[in-house]
Amino acid sequence: MTVDSDCPHCGESIQLAVDPSGGESQEYVEDCPVCCNPNLLHLQFDEEGRASIHAEAS
Ligand SMILES: [Zn+2]
Repeated sequence: MTVDSDCPHCGESIQLAVDPSGGESQEYVEDCPVCCNPNLLHLQFDEEGRASIHAEAS
């Protein structure tokens, strides 16, 4: 399962692999695949299992 977001460092659209088994609310750091800067990702699953993600510069 992947979610689209925008990198706060370079502004590129990035695709992030997410794992619903990690809990309905997750927070972790992952490097941008485009510019390699670390992003702090806030990941939330709704009751239907859809993921929404917010990336901020860390
Ligand atoms: Zn980036």
